[in-house]
Order: sequence, then structure tokens, then C-alpha cells
Amino acid sequence: MANKRFTVEPGHGTRSGYDWHRRDRKELPCTECREAESAYWRLMRIVRKEQINANNRKRRLTVAGAARSNRKRAIKFGVQTEWYSPMQIVELYGENCHLCNEPVDLDAPRQCGQPGWEKGLQIDHVIPLSKGGHDLIDNLRPAHGYCNNIKNATMPKISGNLEVAS
Ligand SMILES: [Zn+2]
Ligand SMILES: [Zn+2]
Repeated sequence: MANKRFTVEPGHGTRSGYDWHRRDRKELPCTECREAESAYWRLMRIVRKEQINANNRKRRLTVAGAARSNRKRAIKFGVQTEWYSPMQIVELYGENCHLCNEPVDLDAPRQCGQPGWEKGLQIDHVIPLSKGGHDLIDNLRPAHGYCNNIKNATMPKISGNLEVAS
């Protein structure tokens, strides 16, 4: 396979052309073919970077830290609770904030006060725990940190602590 010759001369400005120059003609590829080859690798670098970002994001959103603190609060309010990760909620209900319908930035920090947290992901209880809502997946939706905190702030008898999701 490695020594296979091209039966038809491939067009220039392609990766096949690049191989043809180097392998069949044993010459420096022309500018167009060199450009095609480097464009391919430039693209591969971007694709690879995007894959790494997606993996990091997934790993980060699988951490169940916030879910654990919700669990404690659910027990305090005497409502039902179950295990979930933020990623599960996003996969189930999509990447839009259910309060304003705009996309959530899954790469933004999720903790209040960190730069960009307003657009970051928080998991909102549609019916707040304090109003008898359960900490169950069907009562959870993705929300912006900002929208979630506005909702909490405008709801009576809710903890003033911004770190706590409703
Ligand atoms: Zn060429
Ligand atoms: Zn929102």
C-alpha cells in the first residue's frame, strides 16, 4: 500500500498531489500541494483541540459536587432526592437555559463570582426545594447562573446566599 503508485496523476492543491510529488516523483511538492497538506494538519489540530475541550467539559460536568449539596438541602427540606450529574440534565433537556431560552456556556465557571459565571451552567429546580419541589431529575433544568440567581432573588422566602441554587 505504501508503495502504491498513482495510476492517474492527482490534481495539484490536494493531499494526494502532495503524496504524488513526494512518493512518485521524489520531489519537493508544489506550493498548492504543500498548502493543501498544511491546511489539512491545521484543521486536524483544531479538531483535536475541540475534542479535548469536549472531553474536559464532559469530565467537569460529570462531577457531582453541586448535586451532592442539593441532596443535603433536599434532605433538610424533607423532599425526595436522587443521584444525577449536571451532564445528565444537559443531555436530557438540552443546552438552553430554561428560564430565558438562550444557550448556556458549558465552558464558563459554574461558581458564582468567577469571571463569566453569569452565562455558566447551574441546575435549577423548576419547583424550588423550599416550595416542596423534589430534587428529582424531572424537576431539574439547565439554567444560566445569572437567570437562576435572579429567579431565587425574586422569589419570596428564599435564602439570600447566591451560591445556593434553588
Ligand atoms: Zn502539486
Ligand atoms: Zn438564562
